This record gives sequence, structure tokens and C-alpha cells, in this order.
Amino acid sequence: MRPRRVYLETFGCQMNEHDSEKILDILNRVNYQATRTIHDADLILINTCTVREKPEHKVYGTLGRFRQLKENKKELILGVGGCLAQQEGDRLLERFPYLDFVVGTHNLHLLPDLVEDIRKTKGRRCETCFYDRAPSMEVIPLMGQRVRAYVTIMQGCDNFCSYCIVPMVRGPETSRPMARILAEVRVLTESGVREVTLLGQNVNSYGKGLKGEASFPALLKRVNEVGGIDRIRFTTSHPKDLSRELIRCFSDLPKLCEHFHLPFQSGSDRILKKMNRGYGREDYSEKVERLREACPSIAITADVLVGFPGETERDFQDTLDLIETIEFDSLFSFRFSKRKGTAAADLPNQIPEQVRRERLMILQGIQKKITRRKNREVEGRLERVLVEGRSRKHASEMMGRTRSNRIVNFPGDADLIGQEVLVRIEKGFANSLRGTSSLLGPVKKAVLV
Ligand code: SAM
Ligand code: SF4
Repeated sequence: MRPRRVYLETFGCQMNEHDSEKILDILNRVNYQATRTIHDADLILINTCTVREKPEHKVYGTLGRFRQLKENKKELILGVGGCLAQQEGDRLLERFPYLDFVVGTHNLHLLPDLVEDIRKTKGRRCETCFYDRAPSMEVIPLMGQRVRAYVTIMQGCDNFCSYCIVPMVRGPETSRPMARILAEVRVLTESGVREVTLLGQNVNSYGKGLKGEASFPALLKRVNEVGGIDRIRFTTSHPKDLSRELIRCFSDLPKLCEHFHLPFQSGSDRILKKMNRGYGREDYSEKVERLREACPSIAITADVLVGFPGETERDFQDTLDLIETIEFDSLFSFRFSKRKGTAAADLPNQIPEQVRRERLMILQGIQKKITRRKNREVEGRLERVLVEGRSRKHASEMMGRTRSNRIVNFPGDADLIGQEVLVRIEKGFANSLRGTSSLLGPVKKAVLV
């Protein structure tokens, strides 16, 4: 039978990217192949994000665009998945009468049945119930040859930061049993994966509710023992759950990459309290200091948001001050976006859009200079680069990542893909590094571990 074709559009974060990999894997098993052309598609699925207003509006725009397509091709099935699907459920079906189905964050495993049912009955479906453990946590997408892969270690979040919709759309925090995670890492190495990123909303609280000694540092130690894996990363962590034991892992575990993404959100204690973050500016700075003591070459990156309700000019200056004091290697910065159902949406003193925009621009200008300076500091050094594929900019060049998570483009051949090579860094730019060819050749495994 001719394979059916699915066009999948993904909005949002790494979590959603990984869910999209799982969706494709689930659909592949029932004879669907991915297509990049909408007009070829038998099934169109939009995997959505609702953390901020902008991606949410983009989804509505995208759905509007698909209306004509659906009218011209009656057998086409159109669905919405992800956080917006979870949040809006049936309301999406009401608002978009040509939409066939809505599938929530815990219901991806239902896709084959759901699509088949719609094809046969021409009915419409909405599946958004939460499970204790979403069955899709156990889906291992094996997608051809790739060097790096995400591995889900937990779902949901219990933190309820006052601005954030995630606990409502992803459900309570549940950790995946360690044996299953380790089994997945082993399967991935057999398919050629060399680097894993352990994924969860709050990875450093991993283990809650599991029996035995399941903590995040214990998990890292076990993954470090898996043969065939050269590099381990993780995201995202919460500063309140960053233990001394986790910090020690950076001096003890050779495969753990020298990079920590540790969102701070604000440099003002007053705002951190209103955000319900559970730590203060001093705690945060001290933890970064300890990380740098344990691992002097560690790159520190973070998330920050400006324009939280009631943020004064003074609070904003505190945030800028923290950025200049810590000197982050890079930052993901956002302006506060009011999310229906979160505590912060109802707080007084909402900050006008214009002020939020201006603050974000100022902050990004400051960080750009710091990032560029830090990238220039790498010039002249030899860096261990895991080669991922061809450079996006120049087809004759290769692209890889340093252990500190900096992207490096350098002249080289495709047979280097999957190998860790030593590259001399020639130039540091705002978002990447440029290297000369890896004259020293691949780094021998024996030297690495
Ligand atoms: N669990 C992670 C943590 O605690 O840092 C991050 C999850 S969240 C999907 C990613 C980032 O989006 C957050 O760190 C925060 O900076 C940003 N974010 C969350 N809610 C937001 C909102 N209402 N407006 C703007 N940015 C928001
Ligand atoms: Fe959202 Fe806070 Fe949970 Fe991160 S820790 S997902 S910011 S509620």
C-alpha cells in the first residue's frame, strides 16, 4: 500500500521538538511518511506551544491558512496537538469547524487509532485526558543516522511559577523509571547516537515518587557508564533544586559536558518572590560560583523574562546588574506574556507592551556584547568538537558543537560526522565560532574517556 504522508509543523521548545520526533515515529509504524510539502499531505498536524502569546497566535494564523486546503481536498485530515490542544480542547473544534481532531500532551499514542477512526467515520475527536505516565514517554524515535538525541526523563511540572502555563498543560511532575531511561540510551547508541540530552521541565528534581535511590545525580552517574555515549547534557534545571551532589558531577563525570542551563528569570528578589521561584538572587549567584569552582571551563546560560507585573525600573536594573555580574555565555530572553489561568495574569500593575519591548531590547543589547566577548575569548584555542553534519551556511563545511555547547563551522569532510575532532578556533561571532580544519584528525576514544 502506498505510504500516507504527514505534514508536521512544530512550534515551541525542545520538548515539543522531541514530541514531534515521537509523533513521526508513532505514525511511521502505521505507514505514514513525513513530507515537507503541504499539498502532498494526507494528514496535517500542528504541534503547538502556549508558553507565550506569540506562538499561540501564530498557530491560529496557520490554522486559518489551512482552511482553503481542506475545502479543496475533503479527504485531508487536519489535527492540532501539544500545549494549545491541551489548553483549549473542544474549544478549538468549535472555533475551527474544518478541524478534524485535537490531541493533548499525554495522548500522542492514540494518534494511529484516532486518524483511522476519522478516516472511516468522518467524525471529529478530542483526546486530552492526563495519564499518571503518558505512554508516549516510552516511545523511542529512531530517525536514521544522527549524532545527538533527546531522552525524556520526566513529564510535567509541580512548581507553579506564577507566570507559567506548563503545569496546567503538561500535568503533574512524574519521573520515568531509571532502567527505562538507561535502556533507551543503550538503544540510541546502537543507532549511532553519541550525545544525549536528558529532557524534562525540572530535571534536577528527577526521582520524586520513584522507589530506591533515584536522584538526578544518580541517573547521571549511570548514563555516564553507558558505553558508546561520549557526551551527556540535560535541560532544564531549577536553581532551587541544584544540589552540591549535582555540582560534584561536573568534576567527577567525564562525559558530562561543561555547560549548565540555569534559568534565573529575574535579578530582583522582590520579583523572584512574586514569581514563586523559591530562591533569591544571592542563592543563585552562589550556586553559579560553586559550579565555576567545580568546573572552571563551564559555560553558564539561562532564561530571563522582563516586564513581569509590578517590575519597576529598579527591579529591571537589578536584572541587568545580575547579567553583567555573572557574565552568562548566552541567554534566552523573553518579555512577560500574560497566560490565562496563571496567577500572574491577574496581578495588578501589568507593564505596558512598549515598556516590556524596550526593556527586552536593552537587555539583549547588553547580553549580545557579553556573548560576543566570550566567544572571542575562545579564539586561538583547540576545542573538542562533536561533528553533527554539514554547515547550514556553506555546504563544503562541517558543523559541530564544543562541549560548552558553542556551534563551530569548519572546513572538513562528511566522513567526520559522528566523530569528535580537535578544531582550532579562528574567529568568535555572536552566535557561532569558526574553526580552521581539524588538522589533528579525530580525537581518539582512548584520550576522551
Ligand atoms: N522549566 C523551565 C524552567 O523552569 O526554567 C522552563 C520552561 S518554560 C517552557 C521556558 C521559559 O519560558 C521559561 O524559563 C521562561 O523564561 C519563559 N516563560 C514561561 N512563561 C512565560 C510567560 N508567561 N511569558 C514569557 N516567558 C515565559
Ligand atoms: Fe514553568 Fe516554573 Fe515549571 Fe519551569 S519550573 S515549567 S517555569 S512552572
